[in-house]
Amino acid sequence: MSRTVVWFRRDLRLAENPLTAAASADGEVVPLFVVDPAFDRSGAARRAFMADALRSLGASMGGALVYRHGDPITTVPAFAAEVGAALVIVSDDFGPYGRRRDAAVADRLATDGRTLRRVGSPYVHAPGSVRKDDGTPYAVFTPFSRRWQMLTAPERVAESHDTDWYGAPAVPCDGPPERPDPGHDLPVADEVTAHRMFDEFDRRGGLDHYADDRNVPAIEGTSRMSPYLRWGIVHPNQLIHRLRPMPSHDVFRSELCWRDFYADILATRPETAWTNLKPQMNAMPVDTDERARSRFDAWAAGTTGYPIVDAGMRQLLATGWMHNRVRMVVASFLIKDLHLPWQWGARHFMRHLIDGDLASNNHGWQWAAGTGTDAAPYFRIFNPVSQSERFDADGEYIRRWVTELAHTPANAIHAPWASKRGIPLGYQAPIVDHADERAEALARYSMVTRR
Ligand code: FAD
Repeated sequence: MSRTVVWFRRDLRLAENPLTAAASADGEVVPLFVVDPAFDRSGAARRAFMADALRSLGASMGGALVYRHGDPITTVPAFAAEVGAALVIVSDDFGPYGRRRDAAVADRLATDGRTLRRVGSPYVHAPGSVRKDDGTPYAVFTPFSRRWQMLTAPERVAESHDTDWYGAPAVPCDGPPERPDPGHDLPVADEVTAHRMFDEFDRRGGLDHYADDRNVPAIEGTSRMSPYLRWGIVHPNQLIHRLRPMPSHDVFRSELCWRDFYADILATRPETAWTNLKPQMNAMPVDTDERARSRFDAWAAGTTGYPIVDAGMRQLLATGWMHNRVRMVVASFLIKDLHLPWQWGARHFMRHLIDGDLASNNHGWQWAAGTGTDAAPYFRIFNPVSQSERFDADGEYIRRWVTELAHTPANAIHAPWASKRGIPLGYQAPIVDHADERAEALARYSMVTRR
């Protein structure tokens, strides 16, 4: 009987998984997860969530999942030889590291007469498949999304209930990856929970009211699917097929399109993971001195004196997740009020987010910095007070995360320093003045445009 290795990476699920469906057609399936030393660069929360997701995945295949620790470039070909598999199946990876790794693994396998086959991707439409008529990539979201909508939604993958697993304990196993302590609770990392959460989100009208509610951080107005999508516990196609023909559902669909868009941008321009997509913005002066570092520390700890910024940063530290509206506000604050390099903020997010994804995160940061795909120029500067008044009008979100303001009324909570009551005991004065820093940001930007 022939054997096929399914090497799991960002596809930690059994339902509607094209990998297991493809491998099952060919006899025994050997499920593998490689604990790559490169994971040590990820933050504790994301690694802990991954460890939990792997435990659930292993349990759902009766404990057959085989762990091997080491560099995948040597580990995967050696493993395929050991179990006598001619074929290793993976879901395609379009990140800069994943591409290099997979090319090297494919080469090594080929020298031994074995094959790495890429089946499906973690996206609705994989990077490279949404192209202009002349075959070139899009650089702007709106035309990308128009073409993306025109492509036929991928068909659902048939369930493969009859997979013939050949794995642990018959195949020796190194044991699961270490689960670092994230210092806080994590969402339950399994498929059943993820789908139950999405069902509940839909049942309570989350999709029907998504267009409005998604901007209100105090309520559960978004799906919270991001960590599940990050690890492939849920595939976006499983969500797309749940959407109904309603404007609010279209907004949700469009957010999944943003995810595909950023993956496409990163795949086309891998160097933009950490460098400006718009090279003209390289001339933008940023601060990196000691004062900059101490301002960064205040931002990261949620002690800037701007309640909405502090609430977001504390939510991130306390849960490993932050609401999208607040991500935009805190990113704008770091870049345009503190004049720090966007990369500092992106790195901090990647260290703490359980949904940390290089494409969505770093291009989300570049969007905020005006260095990336955003068609609007740099001078769109979020005012942290008016954003707070607009999206957290009664201050409920702020009170939840900034306990020093737990008893501050709505009319004083957005800018406590400006209220007659004064700044509540234990909370700090703002570290910068937004009006001054806005002017400073615009002055710096004019230096770029004058060149
Ligand atoms: P929902 O509103 O329910 O949206 C459903 C799904 O659509 C999300 O799970 C996500 O996969 C996708 N999505 C929604 N908004 C965006 C967006 N703006 N860009 C790309 N995909 C989107 N998202 C990540 O998954 N990982 C990140 O590391 C990440 N970093 C970000 C950094 C910054 C500075 C900004 C502004 C945004 C970032 N986002 C990131 C996008 C967005 O904030 C999160 O996807 C969203 O908050 C996740 O919550 P949700 O699942 O409840 O989203």
